[in-house]
Amino acid sequence: MRVVVPLGNRKLTGVVWSIHTEKPEGYIAKSIEAVVDDRPVVTKSLTAMMSWMSSYYMCSIGDVVSAALPSGMKLASKTRILLNPDGGDESGLGDSATLLLDALHLRDGLNLKEVSDVLGSKYPQRVVRLLIDKGLAITEEELKEKYKAKKQVFVSIVKEVLEEEEVLSAELVRVEKKAPAQYRALIAYLELAPLGEEVLIKTLQKHADVTSAVIKKWVQKDVFNIVERDISRLAAYTGEIQALPTLSAPQSTAYSEIRTSLVQRKPVLLNGVTGSGKTEIYVHLIAEAIKAGQQALFLVPEIALTTQLITRLQKFFGDSIIVYHSRFNASERTEVWLKVLDEKKGALIVGPRSATFLPFSNLGLVIVDEEHESSYKQQDPAPRYNARDVAMWMSSTSKIPLVLGSATPSVETVYLSDEGKIARVNLTERYSGVMLPEIFAADLQKEHKQRSMRGGFSKLLREEMVAAFKNGKQVILFQNRRGYSPSWQCGACGDAVMCERCDIPLTYHKKGNGLHCHHCGYSVATPPVKCVACGSTSVTPKGLGTQRIEEELGELFPEIKVGRMDLDTTRSKNAHSKILEAFSNHELDVLVGTQMVSKGLDFQDVGLVGVMSADKMLTFPDFRSFERAYQMLTQVAGRSGRSTTRGKVVIQTFSPDHWVIKRVISGDHDKLVTHELRERETFGYPPYVRLIRISLRHSDEERVKRGADILALRLRQRFSAERVIGPDTPPLYRVNDLYHLQLLLKFERNISPEKYKATILEDLEDFSTDPRWKRLRVKVDVDPV
Ligand code: ADP
Ligand code: ZN
Ligand code: ZN
Repeated sequence: MRVVVPLGNRKLTGVVWSIHTEKPEGYIAKSIEAVVDDRPVVTKSLTAMMSWMSSYYMCSIGDVVSAALPSGMKLASKTRILLNPDGGDESGLGDSATLLLDALHLRDGLNLKEVSDVLGSKYPQRVVRLLIDKGLAITEEELKEKYKAKKQVFVSIVKEVLEEEEVLSAELVRVEKKAPAQYRALIAYLELAPLGEEVLIKTLQKHADVTSAVIKKWVQKDVFNIVERDISRLAAYTGEIQALPTLSAPQSTAYSEIRTSLVQRKPVLLNGVTGSGKTEIYVHLIAEAIKAGQQALFLVPEIALTTQLITRLQKFFGDSIIVYHSRFNASERTEVWLKVLDEKKGALIVGPRSATFLPFSNLGLVIVDEEHESSYKQQDPAPRYNARDVAMWMSSTSKIPLVLGSATPSVETVYLSDEGKIARVNLTERYSGVMLPEIFAADLQKEHKQRSMRGGFSKLLREEMVAAFKNGKQVILFQNRRGYSPSWQCGACGDAVMCERCDIPLTYHKKGNGLHCHHCGYSVATPPVKCVACGSTSVTPKGLGTQRIEEELGELFPEIKVGRMDLDTTRSKNAHSKILEAFSNHELDVLVGTQMVSKGLDFQDVGLVGVMSADKMLTFPDFRSFERAYQMLTQVAGRSGRSTTRGKVVIQTFSPDHWVIKRVISGDHDKLVTHELRERETFGYPPYVRLIRISLRHSDEERVKRGADILALRLRQRFSAERVIGPDTPPLYRVNDLYHLQLLLKFERNISPEKYKATILEDLEDFSTDPRWKRLRVKVDVDPV
């Protein structure tokens, strides 16, 4: 349960971790001031998991709890309580609650201290929580989010008016001459919604050519009703529940193999090519868990958590689906939390990595889709956990059936299956029977030489696009750079305009004509027309971002409709699903985007995928870059030709003969993994060793260098020289005026991690208390990705 505890002169919410009778030594325990809950809101298995996370990922339990609990559940004394403008259930309030409610009506917001004064009670938390639970009060933070969340206003006609014809015609006659705008509004409404349906106010305004004030006049006269709906929430499912999909023969075989392993409590890797119907197999497994009254957790990468996936699952599970989205606001998250805790029926919980923190009461199945995805790993803040590995831990400690699915499983997971720790089930064909797409490499060097490039488009890509359009197919173009151009550069000397605070060139955004840093937010309002280094005026945007591709497409194919999906076009809460919907309805012919278009999308009519440039991913300095490049290229290729005819993929690159590109073309994932495993064994990388990365940051370059050297020296003395690598500079040495150095620690798999982790923490503690290094920011990342 949550309790309120004093800390200095603040009051904070804490969670009771354990109950014991040992007297604390060395300090005097203070009393708990109040118990917030009347039943536990965190389960035993969740506290066990959080304890494990704190020790495995080398962070405090507080960090873990703070990440787990939705902010709506963390009342602090600074929290202001307000009246909920939407109102709630006023029945059965006691004296204190009624008193507080009255006070909230009179004043705009009270903090906990003020609530204490009003109630004449030292511990008002219970009363506050009662009002919040009944929907009568709300925290200020929630309120802010509530209004940030996008609302849509709907108009409908009052039922009685619609049903009484005389009333309606009398009203119409009355306004026809006197108030033509009101007349238009009502007529337009009747045209749009003859049965009294809800109409978007914007639609009505446009249709009738009136202002919203005109519509509100009808509301005053009790002819129209207006309701506001939060469009982020999933409406209750009203469609029909479909029978589970019938599995094809290979799917059935895979399904029984999975079942056999799960019954034996062995996790399963489902390695199925893109479009093989992994989702359909999950659906069968989930249905079984739900039928047994259990909860099934379906983890997906954040980016794949689209309306498309939810709609697909809703058809089978209807209202048994609980969606957990990181874009949910505090109250929505709290709602999901309590639902998962209290729901005693079977349910499917779909969410990104943070969904592992939900207080499952009866978890019977965990699925990690696209298990190789690096977005399962949290980078900042602590806990820097990997949800896939957390799921593995849950599975091994609580014997919960676990399925890891991927078309391109991670080297680590394949290794575990080679070792026999997890079972492996393969699906090698697409469900539709259609062959995997045909992949071509466009040789950019050759095309540049032959002058056959048009902007960022090779002749090969252009020709394939023309062919696709002719066949009524759609095209996805992938470029992992948003903005117009990754740099603003001098044609004479090559000097690029750099961020003032980071070691990277500024990205040019044509919209607003500005230069922006994607790392720290620094921007320059207008790009310089003259090079600061040599004075030349031939400064231009250099390189290809998604905006530029969109613009070039307009010139190359003026008749086609192009949509763009990247961070800049999807900032608002539902923009993402709107773009996908338009693409799905063929309102768009081409979808240009960053990694957002590369994953999980299932569109029937995509006949061609173009990768605008594959080179950056092949040269990124990281031991995983080949694996990542293969995964990325295969995933994005997998969007092509999913239903009836074999799709095509064009990968543009300066190194068409690169072995990774060749493996992608032949679809040889196993060979890639074998190669990578050999390299990693030779050079000492995971899965053969465990890595811990320690990074240090400071605004003073000298200080961070000296600090890192000293720390490296100490760790080398502890663990021997070959286990400590660095300090090294990461690809981005300076970000936001902080200099950044890294140490990498390597430990053999057969050494118990508890031992060295304790030692490292001790050393770091000593290091951080040294006044010279006190101000250095030190971060520990276990199993960095
Ligand atoms: P994956 O997740 O392995 O990439 P999907 O589950 O998205 O593959 O399946 C690809 C396509 O094939 C989807 O459109 C899906 O609806 C369809 N499909 C797969 N299996 C079946 C099945 N058993 N019955 C009907 N449709 C299926
Ligand atoms: Zn220059
Ligand atoms: Zn910057």
